Amino acid sequence: MVYLDNAATVPMSTRVLGAMHQAEKEYFANALALHTPGHLAHNKIEECRELLAELINCSPDEIIFTSGASESNNTVIRTFEGHKITTSPYEHHSILESAKIYRGKDLPELFSYMLANNETGDYLTIPEKGNGFLHSDLTQVLGKVPIDVKELGLDYATFSAHKIGGPIGVGALYVKNGVPFKPLIIGGNQEKKRRGGTYNTVGIVGFLEALRQVKDDNTPNQYTTKIKPLRDKLAQQIIDNIPGSSLNTDLNNALPNILNVSFSGAEGESIQLYLDAEGIVVSTGSACAAGDIKPSHVLMAKTGDAEVAHSSIRFSFGLDNTLDDVKRVMDVLPGIIKKLQGISTISHRDNS
Ligand code: PMP
Repeated sequence: MVYLDNAATVPMSTRVLGAMHQAEKEYFANALALHTPGHLAHNKIEECRELLAELINCSPDEIIFTSGASESNNTVIRTFEGHKITTSPYEHHSILESAKIYRGKDLPELFSYMLANNETGDYLTIPEKGNGFLHSDLTQVLGKVPIDVKELGLDYATFSAHKIGGPIGVGALYVKNGVPFKPLIIGGNQEKKRRGGTYNTVGIVGFLEALRQVKDDNTPNQYTTKIKPLRDKLAQQIIDNIPGSSLNTDLNNALPNILNVSFSGAEGESIQLYLDAEGIVVSTGSACAAGDIKPSHVLMAKTGDAEVAHSSIRFSFGLDNTLDDVKRVMDVLPGIIKKLQGISTISHRDNS
């Protein structure tokens, strides 16, 4: 299989799986309990908190563990219930939908701008927050590019373990000391009463191991030196060999691992299925929007063209991808697009 859907989720490495397997046996206890197994579990959680804090340049008590990026995003938005909330049009639905519900008119205002988009990989410009507060969904950025929340001037930032090879269902929220905060999950003393619920220690151990990989392997450097050239090569070969193709990713101003392309006259879902039959795994727009027949809000915001949005494919690379994977894609993709464009032309004629 050629797996090119890493922006949706990254498969867990043997190292992460091994650490979690071990944790099932050693760190199973309630991490808030005063007994020895409880302390052991607690220590692992704190190790993860410290490492994430080190990697993003904050203090460990500014990290809150959550069930993932969606929860982290919902928590920040709900904190500003009744306040002015401004977001980019490119945000994940967990920002856009909750902002719709909670947005009001009061100041101070919350700005929520992702640093890089999950569908196109494009970097966004983060606005001046003035007297307001600034949140950034850094789910796709962690491990790809070095992060410094102080330098970015952030008050809040969102992370998810499964986008860096940790388990699904674990995430984190950076909350700068002293900024407004309203817990989403209440009724427990965990996370200094900022997020209730018995600790998912095994999941957090998986997150810890994935973060260690980021640090030990300096993954941002690997993405720049090894993965970006592969991504750029695929982009160039598609443009050179496939008529009707156009890039939706601004290659010089985007994450190193995402390539979003539209193929005029071919439907994204059909391309995805034909590639899947060849053992090549990609997604159409965002995996989170799978099953949703509306065109991607991100591509609509970027291009304003529903046909471009409906004919798009996202290739997202991980550190395991090689030049062979690019070759495999190029062996089959031109034929698939040609076939689909042919079908599309025929149905067009039939309808006219
Ligand atoms: N934000 C962004 C930018 C994402 O890419 C995703 C995952 N598609 C999420 C939030 C949601 O993450 P999680 O699955 O951890 O809730």
